Amino acid sequence: MTGAVLASDTARQARFPVQQERGQRAVFCGLTSIIWLHRKIQDAFFLVVGSRTCAHLIQSAAGVMIFAEPRFATAVLQDKDLAGLADANEELDRVAAQVIARRPEIRTIFLVSSCPSEVIKLDLGNAAQRLGEIYGGRVKFVDYSGSGIETTFTQGEDRCLESLTAQLPADTSDKLSLMVCGTLPDVVEDQFARIFEQLGIGPVRFFPARNSDDMPPVGSNTRLLLAQPYLGDTARALINRGAQLLAAPYPYGAEGTSAWLQAAATEWGIPASTFESVTAAPRARAEHAVAVQTRTLAGKRISFLPDSQLEIPLARFLQRECQMELGEIGTPFFDQQILAGELPLLPEGLRITEGQELDDQLDRVRQLQPDLTVCGMGIANPLEAEGLRTKWSIELVFTPVQGYDQAGDLAGLFTRPLLRKAQLGAQIW
Ligand code: SF4
Repeated sequence: MTGAVLASDTARQARFPVQQERGQRAVFCGLTSIIWLHRKIQDAFFLVVGSRTCAHLIQSAAGVMIFAEPRFATAVLQDKDLAGLADANEELDRVAAQVIARRPEIRTIFLVSSCPSEVIKLDLGNAAQRLGEIYGGRVKFVDYSGSGIETTFTQGEDRCLESLTAQLPADTSDKLSLMVCGTLPDVVEDQFARIFEQLGIGPVRFFPARNSDDMPPVGSNTRLLLAQPYLGDTARALINRGAQLLAAPYPYGAEGTSAWLQAAATEWGIPASTFESVTAAPRARAEHAVAVQTRTLAGKRISFLPDSQLEIPLARFLQRECQMELGEIGTPFFDQQILAGELPLLPEGLRITEGQELDDQLDRVRQLQPDLTVCGMGIANPLEAEGLRTKWSIELVFTPVQGYDQAGDLAGLFTRPLLRKAQLGAQIW
């Protein structure tokens, strides 16, 4: 289906209409998220079962990262596999054995399916079970899908963590525990861990953990705080295992970080005076750092094309803390459950579009002429050539942006293209 229809959900329409679009899309697939997942889970190996296209995609995405020893690879399906002339399962067993022999420190191997492996119906779920039995728990095998032209790149992490959720141990403790869900850079995770400790909230566990043996338990006393706004399926899988989701805005900017921490503090019954004494200084530093960038951002108009699923929380941060004007906010998926903490903070009448019909969206960007458009890498160059300033949305996933100490850097990511425009002079475009 092509074109726009108004979403029928009356709750969504209460404060702003959510347009739905279906048509041509321009996004990376879920394989891309292997780049940050493999850096986070330090004893994991990601084995993509795919084609040369999949291998090229990962290499291109990895090209924007610096790493010493990658822990991912693509088992490239050959013509005879696709024609069913070879036993792909035998090949897979051989490749897995090779990885384990070469990298004895690996404790989890993720078998990641792709469009080609799904087309030939290679069952990686069965393969993960078979290999898990062969290696007797010494190495865990987890399968998930990284494929999809109807998906977006952050969904790769959602599918990975959803699949991993099934293997988390049960938490039988009668004590409350906090699970922070979503891959965060280690430096940000350490900052949050310190603040939770100062507040007296704990035990706090991060999912995914840095090592396979430290993955958190889950149960009815688990309180779940999402650190990333694209983990709807993971959240629902954790809820099915007893966890309770704490509704909160995402920790972008001073306000978002405070509200995110407050959700946990309220659940733990932390006194307001304690919360204030722990958060006042870092919040003031964050507000000051954002204010410096706001001098450039205030009054500028920004639009988002649907790409990373970070669009709505970022729009809230840029409008409320950086005084930017919001144009159209496109998001690949509008998941009310995981956006529940964000929606009350959005301005009335905001135009939100769920899904994509690329040509129509580009026409609206041209008509609106925003000062900045956040979009995928493939769309940025043509818009720049037309004189519009852009920001690659993928940078926002690869850069530490959550928490008080990163609030100024987050605002700075949006300032830079505008300053570059000022330095170059708009007339040369
Ligand atoms: Fe591979 Fe499909 Fe992703 Fe293309 S869209 S890189 S074929 S998984």
